[in-house]
Amino acid sequence: MITLKGWAGAFTAACLGITMAHVAPLLATEREEPKPQILFTNVHVFDGKSDKLTEGMSVLVEGNLIKKVSTETIDAPGATVIDGEGRTLMPGLIDAHVHLNMQFVGYGNDRGIQGAQLFTWEEIGALAYEAAREYLPAGVTTVRDLCGMSQGLRKHIDSGALKGPRIYLSGACIGQSSGHGDWRLEPEVIRQDGEKSNLELLGFTTLADGANEVLKATRNNLAGGADFTKMMAGGGVTSERDPIESVQGTAEELGAMVAATSQFGTIAAVHAYHDESVKNAIRAGVMSIEHGNLMMEPKTFQMVAEADAWIVPAMAAFADEVLEHPYYGNPDLPAYAKTAKIQKNGETWIRLAKESNVNLAFGSDVVVSTKDVWRGSRDFQITQWGRAFGNLRTLKAMTSDAGKLMALTGDMNPYPDAALGVINVGAYADIILVDGNPLEDLSLVGASPKMFGVESRPTPSVDTIPLVMKDGLIVKNTLN
Ligand SMILES: [Zn+2]
Repeated sequence: MITLKGWAGAFTAACLGITMAHVAPLLATEREEPKPQILFTNVHVFDGKSDKLTEGMSVLVEGNLIKKVSTETIDAPGATVIDGEGRTLMPGLIDAHVHLNMQFVGYGNDRGIQGAQLFTWEEIGALAYEAAREYLPAGVTTVRDLCGMSQGLRKHIDSGALKGPRIYLSGACIGQSSGHGDWRLEPEVIRQDGEKSNLELLGFTTLADGANEVLKATRNNLAGGADFTKMMAGGGVTSERDPIESVQGTAEELGAMVAATSQFGTIAAVHAYHDESVKNAIRAGVMSIEHGNLMMEPKTFQMVAEADAWIVPAMAAFADEVLEHPYYGNPDLPAYAKTAKIQKNGETWIRLAKESNVNLAFGSDVVVSTKDVWRGSRDFQITQWGRAFGNLRTLKAMTSDAGKLMALTGDMNPYPDAALGVINVGAYADIILVDGNPLEDLSLVGASPKMFGVESRPTPSVDTIPLVMKDGLIVKNTLN
């Protein structure tokens, strides 16, 4: 990660390099300066993978990496010591499906994502930063954004100017005219003059018809800082004009996206609910299925598993409670019938996912929300995961497993120096302390048993996570 200090150092070195070759020894001395160390003592470690905590550990962080993990006392005389007082130390959480630019556009908008067509960039940007500020106090140190962002917000978070998690991003989602990514308002559709709609101009979505347009859109995303890309391969819930059963994107179009991403050493993702669109995507070489909630055939799960691809399911959509949602659960709105269909498939889906042992990562996937609804939905999503897959698999989906999905960005990985989602020597120092054992109780990492009707967190904080470290820096500390 580039810190402000890092930038300053880079400018200094560049100037010296150009003007004063003889100062090289000074630079060498600078490089040898010891990195700051932070030593956690008296903690039980959940490493992101194991079914048990390792008790009585010490963990030494040096710079932005984990340097030592030991049951023995670690000798680090210059380190700042944090006594964990028997808390659990575990990896910072990863949310593998977010929409920072769309998360809070529920304020003053009852038309779903289409309503965001009427927003200005300053509204979107301000609400996106407010969305980003939700994550660190909840223990989430990495998010993966799946349409709607270029690298602007990330640049300022990574520089230290703004507070927020690490961000993996897909750039504008790519989709066909009339498909899930077509959020044009009616007058814009009728116009048919090729002029871009507001959400296209804002980089939320790119309408692309034909393999050449998909190639161009994919490469344009990569040019704009995308680490991977996403295309709409089937009908969606939040779009008003496409049937949820519709297959979207041709084999040539999906193939074009996969070709362009694999040339850059990264992966392609798709939005897809049902069997046919998932199969098309897997055949084309897509490695990440977003949602997949209407998959009903064992064969489809097998195909995903055999390709070693991933599914990031919307688990809350399987719960009865989703029909109480003010948008998805409102029978007067077009999303209702689609939501009801998905909700019915929950039992089958969970069984098939378990039988196929397919790769799964946790994603909250909440759009067009207010803070109350967002916090309720995200926290409930964790509960739904626990009910379906148990606490260990849920925690892995939020840490080590999600970390593997992030690493598939390969040559385009914005954080390429170490692993995310694990407590290992050499991994990034993204660490949280938890007031108890999350393997026994997911509420400690924010799970809440009801989507609605509970008092939502009044602040972004999950109070049972008193300390959060991102990239070696303590970004939340309410100990004492
Ligand atoms: Zn989504």
